Amino acid sequence: MKLSTLLLPLVLLSTQVYATTANSAVITPEMQAAARQITSEDISEHVRYISSDAFEGRGPSTRADKKTQEYLRSELENLGLKPAAPGGGWFQDVPLGGMTTHVPQTLTLSHGTKQLTLKNHDDFIASAGQQKSSINIKDAEIVFVGYGVVAPEFNWNDFKDVDVKGKIILVMNHNPAVFAGKTRLYYGRWTYKYEQAAKMGAAGVIIIHTTESAAYPWQVVQSSWTGELFELKDEGKLRVKMKGWATEEASRNIVELSGHDLDALRAAAESRTFRPVSLGVKISLDLKNTIHYSQSANVIGMIPGSDPRLAKEAVIYSAHHDHLGMKIDPQSGKSLIYHGAIDNASGVSGLLSIAKAYSKFDKPLKRTVYFVLTASEEQGLLGSEYFVAHPSVSVKDMAANINIDGMGFYGRTRDITQFGQGMSSLDGVLESLASQQGRVVKPDPQPESGSFYRAD
Ligand SMILES: [Zn+2]
Repeated sequence: MKLSTLLLPLVLLSTQVYATTANSAVITPEMQAAARQITSEDISEHVRYISSDAFEGRGPSTRADKKTQEYLRSELENLGLKPAAPGGGWFQDVPLGGMTTHVPQTLTLSHGTKQLTLKNHDDFIASAGQQKSSINIKDAEIVFVGYGVVAPEFNWNDFKDVDVKGKIILVMNHNPAVFAGKTRLYYGRWTYKYEQAAKMGAAGVIIIHTTESAAYPWQVVQSSWTGELFELKDEGKLRVKMKGWATEEASRNIVELSGHDLDALRAAAESRTFRPVSLGVKISLDLKNTIHYSQSANVIGMIPGSDPRLAKEAVIYSAHHDHLGMKIDPQSGKSLIYHGAIDNASGVSGLLSIAKAYSKFDKPLKRTVYFVLTASEEQGLLGSEYFVAHPSVSVKDMAANINIDGMGFYGRTRDITQFGQGMSSLDGVLESLASQQGRVVKPDPQPESGSFYRAD
């Protein structure tokens, strides 16, 4: 969420504001005094320091990762916050599994005596969905399941009563237009497609890539799904064996092999009455997988609330502390540091400044305020996923979460872009505060990207 730094603490410092019901906010002189603790000098200094060469781009599980965590701990501690990782301490270890999948150069699909050969990387991408050294799929049938969505609130079920256990589902990206127009909901994220497929018992998923439905070109799929991919270390979550993507052309050819037409199937899938279509196309695939376990850590501090009724509720500020680390530049062969000054040294700096403002607020807080600096966001929001699975405070007691993934760097602006508009009861508070500063709140300009679900 990109918000004015000055607005952020005001929302929640307010002893008047009830985050679940308020649609206006009162700014008291005490809040104004605390907010004055937030200065551009402080923010710049943190950004410069954390994104300097000394932090080597803050790649997960590196020595620079440790150095970053230690810096954040000392900053929070110096502000007088209390350690708040589950079980005590400042650090919540986040166990990671890095997987490198070795995929055959070609993949042959068959339908009776007809065959289709697809080229790895050019036509399809596949990676291991499970943390096993060997993944074998033998003669699995491909079933087209439309968007692959089960959404009771929209009275929508793409699977109907069709059993896809042990099968490979071919699925469209994004969510049905009747849900929210072009806006991407969680149903439209690839993560959802794999999770839902696993729930249905499917062996694997092939997502049909189009630039429009993904909001990025095929090259992004190629680069994002190549090399070592990180996940949380397996804790028994349901997983498909194979996560795949195919180009639109390859998908068209797969469907044609069965005598169907991709455009006709996709058109049918826009309707609630759509039923999955078994294509009769068979696929066999052996993946070799190298797994390397490591860990990073979330850094968590808090200021306790004091209201007898509300202190158990948590207001959470979050920002991820990792970036891409160091990589070899393919052109020069030299090791380059990806400094990540905006993404997300700026968000971390904003969070530290907000923590400073809270620490100087001289009235007791009603709710408990947490500052959660999450790990390994760039690898797929892993630190925040782990925090939600193992939270410091139960999820039902989380009153609000404001996440900062990149702060504005244009200088003063009159407008504030709000990701996640309409997703919480804080919209009214934000608008009220913005208008008191003569500013306006604008919705996400690219709702098709689903940014709300792509940053932690
Ligand atoms: Zn980020």
